[in-house]
Amino acid sequence: MASEFPGCILCRRFCSAGPSIYVQGCRICQDCEKKIVSVTVDDPAYEIYVEKLKEIWSQAG
Ligand SMILES: [Zn+2]
Repeated sequence: MASEFPGCILCRRFCSAGPSIYVQGCRICQDCEKKIVSVTVDDPAYEIYVEKLKEIWSQAG
């Protein structure tokens, strides 16, 4: 039942080149990783990232 999305799960871009981090087997590109680590809780984007990461973690069972 392993269906790995080939691109970044946050921006949905295909990112095979260059290093990327994996969260529970899901790829996150460097762009998004940078955004995640630099975003503040005041930023509207923060909530979006948190929701996405929650989805990943809840699927990881
Ligand atoms: Zn991305």
